Amino acid sequence: MALNTISYSEKVNVTNCDREPIHIIARAQAHGVILVCNKNTFKITQGSDNIKDILGFELEEVLSDSLSKVIPAEQLQKLQQKVINNETLLPEEICLNNSRFLLIPHLSGENLIIDFEPFGESIDPLLFQEQLTKILSELGDSGSIEEMCQQAVSLVKYLFDYDRVMMYRFDEEWNGEVVAEVKETGMESWLGLHYPATDIPKPAREIFMKQGVRIISDVNYRPAAIQPELSPINNKPLDISGSELRGVSPIHIEYLQNMEVGASLTAAVILNGKLWGLLACHHNTPKFINYHKRQSCKFLTQVFSNKLALRTTSVFLKKLKKSEKVRKELVLQMNSMANISDALVKYKPRFTDLIDSTGGAVYRKGKLYLTGKTPSEEEVINLLLNFLNDRDEKIFQTKSLTKLYPEGDDFKDKASGILSIRIGQEKQDYLIWFRAEASESVSWGGNPEKNAYIKDGVEYLSPRKSFEIWTEKVSGVAKAWEAYDLEAAQNLQESITHVVVKKQKDEINELNKNLSEANAELETFSYSVSHDLRAPLRGIDGYARILLDNYAGKLDNYGQNALKTIMSSAEKMEELIEDILSYSKVGQTSRVQQVFSLETLVEEIIASQNLKSQFPGTTVKIENLPKITGDRRMIKQLMANLIENAFKYSSATENPRVIIGCKSEAEGNLYYVSDNGIGFDPKHKDKIFDVFSRIATEEYSGTGVGLAIAKRVVEKHEGSIWVETEPGRGSSFYFTLKEEEL
Ligand code: ADP
Repeated sequence: MALNTISYSEKVNVTNCDREPIHIIARAQAHGVILVCNKNTFKITQGSDNIKDILGFELEEVLSDSLSKVIPAEQLQKLQQKVINNETLLPEEICLNNSRFLLIPHLSGENLIIDFEPFGESIDPLLFQEQLTKILSELGDSGSIEEMCQQAVSLVKYLFDYDRVMMYRFDEEWNGEVVAEVKETGMESWLGLHYPATDIPKPAREIFMKQGVRIISDVNYRPAAIQPELSPINNKPLDISGSELRGVSPIHIEYLQNMEVGASLTAAVILNGKLWGLLACHHNTPKFINYHKRQSCKFLTQVFSNKLALRTTSVFLKKLKKSEKVRKELVLQMNSMANISDALVKYKPRFTDLIDSTGGAVYRKGKLYLTGKTPSEEEVINLLLNFLNDRDEKIFQTKSLTKLYPEGDDFKDKASGILSIRIGQEKQDYLIWFRAEASESVSWGGNPEKNAYIKDGVEYLSPRKSFEIWTEKVSGVAKAWEAYDLEAAQNLQESITHVVVKKQKDEINELNKNLSEANAELETFSYSVSHDLRAPLRGIDGYARILLDNYAGKLDNYGQNALKTIMSSAEKMEELIEDILSYSKVGQTSRVQQVFSLETLVEEIIASQNLKSQFPGTTVKIENLPKITGDRRMIKQLMANLIENAFKYSSATENPRVIIGCKSEAEGNLYYVSDNGIGFDPKHKDKIFDVFSRIATEEYSGTGVGLAIAKRVVEKHEGSIWVETEPGRGSSFYFTLKEEEL
């Protein structure tokens, strides 16, 4: 059953304090009247049963009647106008039953809820002004936060004169601590006392956030029931969380009674959209302060919240400035040292100087480095492997590790709090700050454990009866990590990533440089070796020819054949040397750009290589070859290699055909040389561009260098080259060039 469909009375004993539906309590406080009407028809639908005593009307009489029964026509008209026009509804003074009231309207869904609250003491506007000025001028934003809180409570005590005024600050788990207090003499001090989160449960905190100020004018009041309990408009419980007169949770009343409080006033201190604390005023006897005074209390807490925001921001910035200095020094160290971990741990400043901590650990590339007071190496490794590695956060923090990782109990004296960041790509690379257990004890206002009891497996709320100081030794808890600690950790994390990436880039650049130097050396070497081989080779060939021409008669058949083999091997070797030389030349020379006709170039190649007479059966087709820009000599080598291959590898086909052409595409010209020859298995598509890589059988002569030269030429022109082929169905070589305008 959803909470909003059942009434408060059905749910009031509810199990869990965090679910007590106090917004639908259906009760008004005794000092005023709540009337509810339909916001469209202005017919009264519900009302608190103290209406007779306060306004002089019988509830039955007004229910279902128009609001005009209670409110004078002129005021009603004004109110109706505002509701219809969706304007802000402001409180108005109203005279009823010979008394002055403040009519405080607000909307809750389809309901117009009106609080009739005693007008109370009139405030002299000048005095009011003076009070506001005092608030503005006296609330300082210098000194510590505790000092600011003390100023605020003193001012509230002066302005509203409650017996005890306290500033109550929440921790991350919603436990509260009294951080400032002013009280009447003779009252016991509650300064420094802690109160468990259940004392101000979630629904109450939510309403504080919404409403700002809350008054309970008489803790021992007799609540006035709102009747009927369910709204006749929608048959649902009425949400009166916006009402000034909203009745108080019986559990809270009992709690205040146990504390011997007669009346209270509470105002929310909100910092950055979150409830930071409460300004809590207690009076020993009933006490009512009117709406206007409550508004100035609200104003005061707002001014205080603003000053608090300023103060916390300046603390934040100061801390950050300090840690930024350390971070920058760490970055310098990391950049100047080969090992990042050494830079973080071994030299000053250490990464632990960045954040207030008692020790730290760096785990990088399988190595652990510890500094300061830390758990043992084994304990840290186990923490990494069995706990941190399972977490997804890039930054993890806790002030009480043992709660999440019971094994942490063994080293809580060194690391109750941990703050860790992941560094590098590897999941288990971490930087961890440790905070030792804060050897403190917390003074609770009563035993915090004793305000709930279990019955039939259900947890029931029971307000604490005892507020005697109850001191608990805090175990396994360290000082909490602050927002500026997390910010500093995150900044360092980013810096480490930058340094790592930069180092990797530098390493790659260095490797590349070494590699290209080695390559250049190799090229020079192969060029000079090939070049130097030419002369002895010519000698071999020349003398073999002399032998064959002049001494053939003295040689038998075997000798003559051997001589011929020497000559053809020398010829093959020369071919190879020429190819290697061209290959290195393309690598070493830079390109000389010129504009020339590709068609003329192709015709030149076909003519100079005697291709037509070498391959008389082959049909050649030239398609759309344009003028191009590039290094003419290099492109001649490229085209010659592709065209010769096309003729060569299609020569054995029936009706061999070679097409040389160009297609104009969106990205630029696409050149191609196609044949209908032997083709090859496409899995060798990339390999054939490597030097000395041949697939064709020995019946096709060749060195395996031609395509490597072609690829180099294309790369020199910042283009790419590839092949589409199929065994027995021919090949098409495509290439592109970056043709810059001259
Ligand atoms: P080669 O001197 O052996 O022709 P290339 O570097 O020019 O050396 O070519 C490398 C290999 O690619 C050739 O041995 C051949 O197997 C294959 N190849 C090149 N062009 C063609 C083509 N047009 N048709 C079929 N195979 C080809």
